[in-house]
Amino acid sequence: MNIVIFGPPGAGKGTQSNFIVEKFQLHQLSTGELLRKEIKNNTALGKEISSIINSGNLVSDIIVSDLIEKYISDKIYKNRLIFDGYPRNLNQAKNLNVLLKKYDQKIDIVLKLSVSLQTIKKRILERKILEKRIDDNQEIAVKRYKTYENNINPVIDFYKQTNLLKVVNGEASISEISDEIRALIESIKG
Ligand code: AMP
Repeated sequence: MNIVIFGPPGAGKGTQSNFIVEKFQLHQLSTGELLRKEIKNNTALGKEISSIINSGNLVSDIIVSDLIEKYISDKIYKNRLIFDGYPRNLNQAKNLNVLLKKYDQKIDIVLKLSVSLQTIKKRILERKILEKRIDDNQEIAVKRYKTYENNINPVIDFYKQTNLLKVVNGEASISEISDEIRALIESIKG
């Protein structure tokens, strides 16, 4: 089973992905984490993207596509991936289908975590203290939220058309959200 999880920054994608990983023995593929690792390791790619990430904008579709193909093409992860933070726009959503098809796979469910900007601001501040992420401050958080809002509607429509989209109330408690996600995943496993 392959899962897509998306929502604005601070919606709880990472937390819920961890839960899904443990519960269903899948592998989390967070493009944000992969990109931050490049920056931390000071690679050529890291140097290229650090200012983009720090300003709350999206890095180019080609860069993230290359990163995720490494995992999609790896037999170890076949039908075991949770895409956390990918796709972020319509082009990426279409590209993900193409890549999965190339390696004889598909998406089984798309989870959208819905959270208000007010809640996001609060959570980002809490996370900044816990995780010390360079792009977690109020101003960049609002920018990242806007970037998300500006790009995501066509992605939502795209997945609605294929009946894969499930909307989850991201304002609920962590355990309530996990319970809802577990039930949704179990319902498609049959
Ligand atoms: P995240 O950890 O998912 O909040 O991502 C952190 C940052 O990484 C984003 O604000 C973007 O700058 C970049 N990023 C992560 N995933 C993508 C993606 N699929 N496409 C473009 N940029 C991305």
